Amino acid sequence: MSDIEEHRKKIEEITLEMIKLLKTRTDIAKQIGDTKANLGMTVTDEEREDALRTQVAKLCKEIDLDQSTASKFLNLLLNESVKVQSDNKQTHLSVFLKAKALEEQGKKIIHLEVGEPDFKPPKEVKTALEEVYDKGYGKYGPAKGITELRKALASRENCSEENIMVCPGARFGVYLVITTLLNPGDEIIIIEPAWPAYKDCALNAGIKVRTIKTTLETRWEPSVDQINNAINENTKMIVLNYPNNPTGKILPEKLLDSIIQTAKEHDLYVLSDEIYSSYGIEKSPKPVLVYNYKKSIITKSFSKSHAMTGFRIGYAIAEPSIIEKMSKLQALSLTNVSEPIQYVAQQALKANISDNADIIKSRLNALKESAKNIGLEFIKPDGSMYLFAKTKYKNFDAAKFSEKLLEHGVAIAPGEGFGDYKEFFRITAIDETKLKEGMIILDTVLKESYE
Ligand code: PMP
Repeated sequence: MSDIEEHRKKIEEITLEMIKLLKTRTDIAKQIGDTKANLGMTVTDEEREDALRTQVAKLCKEIDLDQSTASKFLNLLLNESVKVQSDNKQTHLSVFLKAKALEEQGKKIIHLEVGEPDFKPPKEVKTALEEVYDKGYGKYGPAKGITELRKALASRENCSEENIMVCPGARFGVYLVITTLLNPGDEIIIIEPAWPAYKDCALNAGIKVRTIKTTLETRWEPSVDQINNAINENTKMIVLNYPNNPTGKILPEKLLDSIIQTAKEHDLYVLSDEIYSSYGIEKSPKPVLVYNYKKSIITKSFSKSHAMTGFRIGYAIAEPSIIEKMSKLQALSLTNVSEPIQYVAQQALKANISDNADIIKSRLNALKESAKNIGLEFIKPDGSMYLFAKTKYKNFDAAKFSEKLLEHGVAIAPGEGFGDYKEFFRITAIDETKLKEGMIILDTVLKESYE
């Protein structure tokens, strides 16, 4: 056998051996995950991970291996563990799917778990849908979106159309931001409780997630110290989402100023997901765009503001160089956002949507009132469409409670889907009559189970 053939054989053997080891590793990680879940432990143990990182760095020096390759590989392995260990978590989506299955069997369900307005899009949308065929929209188009819509969005956001990219919902915008701007081995800071997709996108792309845990006691506010402590030389991005899903929190302006300042000092990207910006109920959120920070990316959507969740349309605002990178992946993966839907969105921008904010305000008020009356503990949401609460009962398990509640026809979103918040659950501010009915059932099941 020639030398090259012998070496090839060796590499193949090592690769197959590695795959076998990976399988054993995954099985053990799964067992650890199950044990942690039973003991109520969190999935990620940052101290343990950092200790392993130090060991890997030391080993790299000893055996003369490139450290960055090794650290990327380590992050990949750690992320795989997080993924297998997070598999059995109950999220708003898993509850929603169970609720849908029950509905198909003829059961009536009150949906307090879903994150979508239950009213209709503005009437401009109906007219636009009627017009769009005759207007000839329906061809391939530019990956960043049709110029008329980008211009309309730019004038609404007070920026140039070069700063705008239309995407199929804020979710895809978030995915594009994380996957195009970060590389495997980079780190991202996520402030929890948080909408789960930020973490999932990062894990999917081999990016290490550093979570900052905020609490009800500290009014869901992260401290600048917490953020500074989470930053190291691999940190590349911090995610903000205010008004927040699930807490409804809007950060005090000074705190937001300090966070942006910290991001600037460490040259971090700031992904600000402002999908609920039109639902600043108690106060108006400060848009991150006003900081004029070159490494900020803002994601927005028609889903909540215009009640157009199923239309799948949103947009990102950033520096043209960032938009360029994101649009390349968008072109690669979906060519462009459906042209007819872009036309409809453009017409929707002409609608007066202040009524929607009024509807959400009155529902959130009804929700706060009823949650207070049944003794739930929460911080008054400043905005968005949700209330994130816990009960007065010790060792309350919201995932188990949500399963029981579903049997009684009410769906809620367990807190563990938003981070390490097993005792919390999220309730959506839906139509007041249904909301009241749902809250009465919730109260009854709670008392039956815990008193
Ligand atoms: N960001 C947050 C915070 C959300 O809650 C949601 C949807 N629930 C999204 C983004 C995704 O929205 P879209 O429908 O625009 O993809």
